[in-house]
Amino acid sequence: MLGPEAGLECNLCGEEVCGAFLLTKCNHALCTKHESDPRIQSSTCPCCGTHLPLPADIQVVRMAVEPEVERALCGLHPRVATRLIQNALEFWHYQDCLRAERRAQELTEERQRVHQAARKIAQLEFEAQVLQERVHELQKRKACESPLREMSYGQCNRGAGSV
Ligand SMILES: [Zn+2]
Ligand SMILES: [Zn+2]
Repeated sequence: MLGPEAGLECNLCGEEVCGAFLLTKCNHALCTKHESDPRIQSSTCPCCGTHLPLPADIQVVRMAVEPEVERALCGLHPRVATRLIQNALEFWHYQDCLRAERRAQELTEERQRVHQAARKIAQLEFEAQVLQERVHELQKRKACESPLREMSYGQCNRGAGSV
C-alpha cells in the first residue's frame, strides 16, 4: 500500500490526520469527526468560509491507496493524469504553507512567553535584592541592640539605629 511519509495536520483542530480525512475544494484538510460540524453541514469551509455547495466540494479521501487502485491513473490521457497530479501537488504545497504559518505563529507565541518570563525573573530578582538589603539592615540593627555589644562599650553608631 502506498502511503504518505510526512504527516498531515487537521486544519481545524491541528490533530494528526490518519487514514481518511475531509478534503474541501479550497484545499483544506479536516478530520472526519468534523463532518458533523454545523459549518460543514451548512456547506461552508470552517477554515476559510468558502461556500461548498456541491457534494464534490467536500470529499472524504484517503491518504493511502489500496493496491487495486495503484494503477488508477493508468489509461488516462497524460494531460488529464498530469492535471490530477497537479491538484495533488497543489494540495500538499498548500498544506506545507499552512504548517509553516502555524509553526511561525507558535514560535512568536513562545518568544513572547520567554520574554514575559525574563521580565518576571528580573522583577523577582529586584524584589529579592530589596528584601536582602532589608534583612541585612535588620541584622545590623539587631547586632547593635544586642546586650553583648552594649557590654563591649558600644562600637556601633547608636544614634542612627536605635529608636
Ligand atoms: Zn480536526
Ligand atoms: Zn477552506
